[in-house]
Amino acid sequence: MNTGSLAHECGVFAIVGDVDAARICYLGLHALQHRGQEAAGIVVRHDGALTGHKGEGLVHEVFDETHLRALQGDTAIGHVRYATYGGGGPANAQPFLVQWREGQIALAHNGNLTNADVLRGELEDRGAIFTTTSDSEVLLHLIAASDQRKLINRLVDALRRVEGAFCLILATATRVIAVRDPWGFRPLVLGKRGNAWVVASESSAIEFVRGEVVREVEPGEMVIIEDGTVESIRPFQRPARRACIFELVYFARADSTVFGRDVHATRVRMGEILARDFPAKADIVVPVPDSGTPAALGFSRVSGLPFVHGLLRSQHVGRTFIEPTQRIRDFGVRLKLTAVRSVVEGKRVVVVDDSIVRGTTSQKIVRMLREAGAREVHLRISSPPMTGPCHYGIATPRADELVAARLDVARTRAFLDVESLAYLSIDALREAVGSDGTGYCEACFTGDYPLKPQRRDDSAQVPLPFGAEDTAEPRRRI
Ligand code: AMP
Repeated sequence: MNTGSLAHECGVFAIVGDVDAARICYLGLHALQHRGQEAAGIVVRHDGALTGHKGEGLVHEVFDETHLRALQGDTAIGHVRYATYGGGGPANAQPFLVQWREGQIALAHNGNLTNADVLRGELEDRGAIFTTTSDSEVLLHLIAASDQRKLINRLVDALRRVEGAFCLILATATRVIAVRDPWGFRPLVLGKRGNAWVVASESSAIEFVRGEVVREVEPGEMVIIEDGTVESIRPFQRPARRACIFELVYFARADSTVFGRDVHATRVRMGEILARDFPAKADIVVPVPDSGTPAALGFSRVSGLPFVHGLLRSQHVGRTFIEPTQRIRDFGVRLKLTAVRSVVEGKRVVVVDDSIVRGTTSQKIVRMLREAGAREVHLRISSPPMTGPCHYGIATPRADELVAARLDVARTRAFLDVESLAYLSIDALREAVGSDGTGYCEACFTGDYPLKPQRRDDSAQVPLPFGAEDTAEPRRRI
């Protein structure tokens, strides 16, 4: 088992000082469900004691009324998890809740530590026993092993040793602590709901529970909530900011404000620029729902071509569906998307999606559109070719499975069997997000990795993609 290979995308949420803490946390996690669909968990605090419930599945599958009623308390922290490689498993569901010599501590983590494997090796050499394959457990060991006395100092001590992406929420008997890594890879937002404090991965989750966004937790900031007051410290050195540009392309919810940018408006802008730079002689613009919808809207506005729903997304594909056998594997995408014959028949169609990863989704969509009578298919992608895996918390397959890492645009066009194919250039993407080329992590598009993953064996020189030994397909969110 290769622990450093466990890639995960996640969402975190906390509410401090609300009689309905567990229910609000449940709703907050529901709003963050797009960030993690494999497992969910909530830990509540009542009279200084922490208890929790977690399990594999969607938020509404893990929690029912009985669980929520049992989770009494005025403070809750929660987590949704999206493990795609290295296996998830119930043990890896978060928040982790542990007992150590100073009492209880609960931890929820979004991100990916690039030196977790090395640190884990060091801890194991000193006798540490791990119960999960998660890099987040390394943090708990580092906190417990620190020679500092006060918890905050222990935490700072532990976090100064880790590298990579982390948005953390911790709960103890008296405090809730939220921390964002100094590079600021993933978003984290502070809000209020009446007198209660709220922390969430995305602003839309705070608004969803009828709270108000106060501000971003800044890169390198540690926010300590205790007795209704908030204290902020900045204990880390400040490297150049590296906000994940893919949050704006695909990952964050369209109704969030991420890194100070309105996600929906930014995606519409990507589509507008795409139409300006790569127009197509066509009749209609069709979004790949839901991920391509805002960019398709932008493309339609600038091109003047009508925006039409030529692909329908099924609302009913549950996780309970059993993966089809090899013989009917082609049905995979059809279960989620179908082409509308009356809309596309005889038409020259511009299809807009946010990204191509392996290319399998696009390939099947194109086939479906042709079967439904589309005369021509022009594919427009509102991000640059994805040529490298993410090491900072977005689950992507290994590099050689990324179609753009294997084929240039002309060959990809032929592979996908479309009349034309165009991607947004990196400069155009920067233009859409209002970046001067600094401040964002664009590694999956440019290969400029701000932090290299470190491995305890000699493969350390080669930045191994996550899941190199695991061929499981990532779950798609279309
Ligand atoms: P693929 O079939 O591998 O090319 O997947 C492309 C589709 O997956 C696009 O519709 C994207 O919106 C979506 N997608 C992009 N990145 C991810 C991700 N990290 N996890 C799940 N789906 C993704």
